[in-house]
Amino acid sequence: MSPSRRTVLRTGVAGAAVAAGITAIPAAPAAAALPDTGVSVYPFPLSAVTLLSGPFQANMGRTHSYLSFLDADRLLHMFRLNVGLPSSAAAMGGWESPTTELRGHSLGHVLTALAQGYANAGPAAFKTKGDYLVAELAKCQDRATTAGFNTGYLSAYPESFIDRVEARQSVWAPYYTLHKIMAGLLDMHLLAGNAQALTVLTRMAAWVKFRNDRLTLTQRQNMLDTEFGGMNETLTNLYQLTGDANHLATAQYFDHAEVFDPLASNVDALNNYHANTQIPKVLGAIREYHATGTTRYRDIAVNFWDIVVGRHSYAIGGNSNGEYFKAPNRIASELSDTTCECCNSYNMLKLTRQLFFTNPARADYMDYYEKALYNHILGAQDPSSSHGFHCYYVPMRPGGIKTYSNDYNNWTCCHGTGMESNTKYVDSIYFHSGMTCTSTSSSPRCSSGPAGASPYGRRRRTRRRPPPGSPSPARGRSRCGCGFHRGPVARRSGSTAWSRASRSRPGRTRS
Ligand SMILES: [Zn+2]
Repeated sequence: MSPSRRTVLRTGVAGAAVAAGITAIPAAPAAAALPDTGVSVYPFPLSAVTLLSGPFQANMGRTHSYLSFLDADRLLHMFRLNVGLPSSAAAMGGWESPTTELRGHSLGHVLTALAQGYANAGPAAFKTKGDYLVAELAKCQDRATTAGFNTGYLSAYPESFIDRVEARQSVWAPYYTLHKIMAGLLDMHLLAGNAQALTVLTRMAAWVKFRNDRLTLTQRQNMLDTEFGGMNETLTNLYQLTGDANHLATAQYFDHAEVFDPLASNVDALNNYHANTQIPKVLGAIREYHATGTTRYRDIAVNFWDIVVGRHSYAIGGNSNGEYFKAPNRIASELSDTTCECCNSYNMLKLTRQLFFTNPARADYMDYYEKALYNHILGAQDPSSSHGFHCYYVPMRPGGIKTYSNDYNNWTCCHGTGMESNTKYVDSIYFHSGMTCTSTSSSPRCSSGPAGASPYGRRRRTRRRPPPGSPSPARGRSRCGCGFHRGPVARRSGSTAWSRASRSRPGRTRS
């Protein structure tokens, strides 16, 4: 009898105990000041894995072309005007128009995409462009007080937007936008080695602390009714990176009790909540567990994932109708042209990945990851667009038609997360637990990164399928070709019905 996916995983994990003498793989990212608590599986750096030709690489190539095409000065236009600096660049459209209250969020997505692209297969020019954006943002931040803002403030809109969210006056989602910028700065530091990005980010974090220290608990909780992205996630990541407890305290200001309390009790109260407002909060919760060891945070994240995947998700792994969660277990009756917002699956995959780090014995985490990656994210990009234009929704209504973004006039959240998704396909193929390498792809292919780019080694070697007639690996295990260790590989794909079905269809093979 062939082993089940779960059995294969356990075999691989257990195999770690017999693969003695392997010390080359660090237990935690070398850059972090603090280790993650409750984590037993770790990712390889983006530089350590290379996509081979296929649909994933093709998607990535289109997004790389777009990142090369984008005019940095147009992205900076409203940031400069906001602090009185001159700018002659043409204004952009969509959610980046000069009058849209989310303006500036896309630059954060671009920073993350450039950093990820630079770290994995992209040109050096990505770092050059990212470094330029960071340096120009720093100039804007330096002029905060001159422009009448508080020290450390950095945005493409005035600080009065924060006054409005604190006063519960009408405003779109200012902290959502700031979160994207902060996450982009952190990625430019971690993935592209930009020291200035950490300085700018740390000043922004101090400004966030200053704004929220002044509020009562009730004022802060009321403010959290307005979408704020993953402020708790990025600030916790900054705490783990720096060890500065102020960042953790600030992150916890964004723990939204109205959402977290029922989840901690495993109660599904998600009906009529805006879906993608909630997912990043829970991504913050699992990172807060990793930072603090407080199991309530872990329970919130685990329960949320079980509820969303089990009761609120479509066959392709997406969720939400008209951007909202509906009543549980009614997903089949919620078919429209506005189902499966792409950002939701982008964030669900990030959450799933963190939960897998926390409990790799749950094979259903990576079952879901593969399902949503293949059937939602991969198919959300326009294959006929050389710039990787992206869906906002993937319609589940029979006969529904995908519509796509464009270069400068359709900036949305999903255009932004689309750039991110299509520059990090290698981030969840291989994992390790110190001595055992786990592959979540049906066709393990692992290569070390370019010379000098990886802390793990300098060889560049790609593992390919064995020739016909080669002996099959015993019990699903094989020797990893990554060159990092000699332990067994736990291969975790291919045992579920949907997985077999998806790979049997042309164009669905991940390469
Ligand atoms: Zn979106």
